[in-house]
Amino acid sequence: MRLVVDLNRCQGYAQCAFLAPDVFAMHGDESLLYNPQAAQEQRDEVARAVAACPVQAILLEADPADVAPGPDREATGDR
Ligand code: SF4
Repeated sequence: MRLVVDLNRCQGYAQCAFLAPDVFAMHGDESLLYNPQAAQEQRDEVARAVAACPVQAILLEADPADVAPGPDREATGDR
């Protein structure tokens, strides 16, 4: 799972750091540090942080590796 925080939008409310402290941390009063490659196991807490951010600054992107592969057309002969 990849996440991006729009730091131009982020107002340092720290809701994310409170709800997902393994992923987000405040550095000083207003600057936010975060792990852009959060682990799958942290998905729930990251989702809560995304929902709680008052300015919707946190964007989640699905990693290509997280997406289940489709059927193998070559192997099934379904062309
Ligand atoms: S909750 Fe949103 S505004 Fe607050 S620190 Fe996190 S990303 Fe920034």
